[in-house]
Amino acid sequence: MLKATKISDPELYALVEKEYERQVHNIEMIASESTVPLEVMELTGSVFTNKTLEGYPGARFQAGSHVADEVETLACQRAKELFGAEHVNIQTYSGSTANYSVFASVLNPGDKVLSMRLDQGGHLTHGSPANWVSKIYHFEFYAINPETELLDYDALEAKAREYQPKMIIAGASSYSRLIDYERIAKVAKEVGAYFMVDMAHVAGLVAAGVIPSPIPHADFVTSSTTKTFCSARSGMVFCKKEYAKMLDKGTFPGALGSIHLHTMAAKCWSFRYAASDAFKATMRQVVKNAQALAAALTEKGFRIVSGGTDNHLLVVDLRSKGINGRDFQNALDSVGITVNKNMIPFDQEKPSVTSGVRIGLTAVTQRGLKEPEIREIADIMEQVASAPFDEDNLARCREKAQALIARFPLYPVNPMEY
Ligand SMILES: *Cc1c(COP(=O)(O)O)cnc(C)c1O
Repeated sequence: MLKATKISDPELYALVEKEYERQVHNIEMIASESTVPLEVMELTGSVFTNKTLEGYPGARFQAGSHVADEVETLACQRAKELFGAEHVNIQTYSGSTANYSVFASVLNPGDKVLSMRLDQGGHLTHGSPANWVSKIYHFEFYAINPETELLDYDALEAKAREYQPKMIIAGASSYSRLIDYERIAKVAKEVGAYFMVDMAHVAGLVAAGVIPSPIPHADFVTSSTTKTFCSARSGMVFCKKEYAKMLDKGTFPGALGSIHLHTMAAKCWSFRYAASDAFKATMRQVVKNAQALAAALTEKGFRIVSGGTDNHLLVVDLRSKGINGRDFQNALDSVGITVNKNMIPFDQEKPSVTSGVRIGLTAVTQRGLKEPEIREIADIMEQVASAPFDEDNLARCREKAQALIARFPLYPVNPMEY
């Protein structure tokens, strides 16, 4: 890969190489990240990127579509089988546009939508004032219970009854617990709302059967295909058969343009790979590693929001350590561990500072780290938090982090020379 670029644009090639080196030597714990298999990299760089097509298999707007039709049909078959879904649309470009295509399919300007508060785990595309969707639809938000830090289903139900939304959205970016989809589906049915689940963060865990699936309960299920699904930078939307036509029309021409056949091909490969024992074992270990990290950090006096985790991520409340999220993120970054600062529920700090960090275990688990190494990482985190501005301390932590991750190659072969 990149042999031609190396010759024609050495300056840019050097940047790719620099990023590769960064990834190799870094302990990657951003919860939305994962490492794509070489096949996904190959397919996203394949000749499929040359083909422009709009429409659906058998009904395209351009000629020369017969191979593309086979790819899209095969990918959809595999996706439906993997997730046990009645219908899927894989034309969306990412998790965000997956949501936009559902909104385009079923909502009209001024419609009411009930979703989870952004500062407690929801997503920008679920109605944040900073996102354009808030200019078109009216959003109300449900929250977590301040005591348990778990979703407050009773309050959600009361809010739905009072507000009478056209759609209820569940799914989050920084919620470490299982969501009771069945319960929310009942509420949605009662108030006559569509129920959409955004499983962007947990799609890999759902595919592997490690956590319960929203597919049987929701009218629409959207997702990114990066994150725990470990595939191309793209997205997908599932729905009940009765909404299939509506979703397809809402996606194209409703929301998007031509298909991205190269990422579609990569997703097609992943829809098969995700059914393998190897992928399932990785996903099981992701959750074990997240729980091991939560336990180890708790032992060291950190507080884990909601007391633990059922999935691939945890949110850590840093107040007991006297350090804020921004400073801890920066200190960890300087030792080669990447996490992101994150609001804790009812955070008193600004979003640019925060009292917490969000930590994800997908990428390190893919590299082969298990519980003993996760405990080593917790040790380093504790040491960083104990003196986050002490250069000597950080240098010692960096040495430990480097030595640890050097034992686990990012790829079985060097993708730059492959
Ligand atoms: C990441 C995320 C998205 C957006 O996905 P992109 O692929 O980054 O566009 C949407 N919803 C949730 C809940 C997410 O966590």
